[in-house]
Amino acid sequence: MNRVNNLKEILPYVRTFQGATFVIKIGGEVCGEKYLDEIAQQLSLLHHIGIAVVVVHGGGPQMDAWSKRMGIERKVVAGRRITDLETLQATKMIFAGLISTDLVTALRKQGAPAVGLTGADGYLLTAERRAPIDVQENGKKVKVDFQHVGDITKVNTTLLLGLIEQGLIPVVASLGADDEGNTYNINADTVASKLAIALQAEKYIILTDVAGILRNKDDAKTLVSYADIDALQTMLDKGSITDGMRPKVTTCMDAVKNGVHRTHIIDGTREGTLLQELFVNEGCGTMIVDKKEKKAYEKELK
Ligand code: ADP
Ligand code: MG
Repeated sequence: MNRVNNLKEILPYVRTFQGATFVIKIGGEVCGEKYLDEIAQQLSLLHHIGIAVVVVHGGGPQMDAWSKRMGIERKVVAGRRITDLETLQATKMIFAGLISTDLVTALRKQGAPAVGLTGADGYLLTAERRAPIDVQENGKKVKVDFQHVGDITKVNTTLLLGLIEQGLIPVVASLGADDEGNTYNINADTVASKLAIALQAEKYIILTDVAGILRNKDDAKTLVSYADIDALQTMLDKGSITDGMRPKVTTCMDAVKNGVHRTHIIDGTREGTLLQELFVNEGCGTMIVDKKEKKAYEKELK
């Protein structure tokens, strides 16, 4: 009977989520072989209850491993990776080739039809080359040219809407293009949030390899379970959010400022976390909302 009662508890969620759009960003660690089936199973379940799932993926660890095997030197200035021409070529192979195919095949294994594409397809993402910026390195000011790194200037959702309409799951690799024949490497968190905004998605969810936003990044017990934009701005200013967590937080903030109701950062390396965050009252990661939505959430918890 207990199991039946548990099933009944998800009815309100299934009812609200049906027909909704979720943009789900899968981090590099999470789209590795070890976690792929587990993630694909959860995504397939969402798909089958009528949620329009749009997947965006990264691939940092895979890029590092394959670049090394291909003898491509990893260039970093002041902690930031430079995408030179060879690195860009590797991103096309690893993101659009290897990881995209693995994700599509894993979804297929779970009975969910997916289509792999990049931001270059169907004019999905128009990007421009990022201008060189000044950064501090060893106390000195240096100019960094990221080379083939793009910033998104335009999103065209026609292709995505067509795929969703046909009951397919778009799996988007974080590359974009311009009209002059250039391809760009774009941060996958940024791609996901821009798509969530353009689609006016109900949710933007990030699956990564930590529990969520930690007040102290070396202490898993300091998890922030929900936060509004002001609280996060304070954490960013204080410098307690660094590295790969920074674009996650800033893109979530950008999404909620631009009409995405709820955004979540969760640990995709633990079993069932995506379903837990969505269908159980107490989620497991960090939820980022605006002030109004925060009040609504606090009411739900009571
Ligand atoms: P992904 O491949 O999922 O994008 P990243 O490695 O780019 O993952 O970003 C997640 C990393 O950010 C974590 O593994 C962690 O080391 C780092 N991080 C920095 N500050 C924080 C923080 N305050 N809370 C949680 N993680 C943080
Ligand atoms: Mg990252």
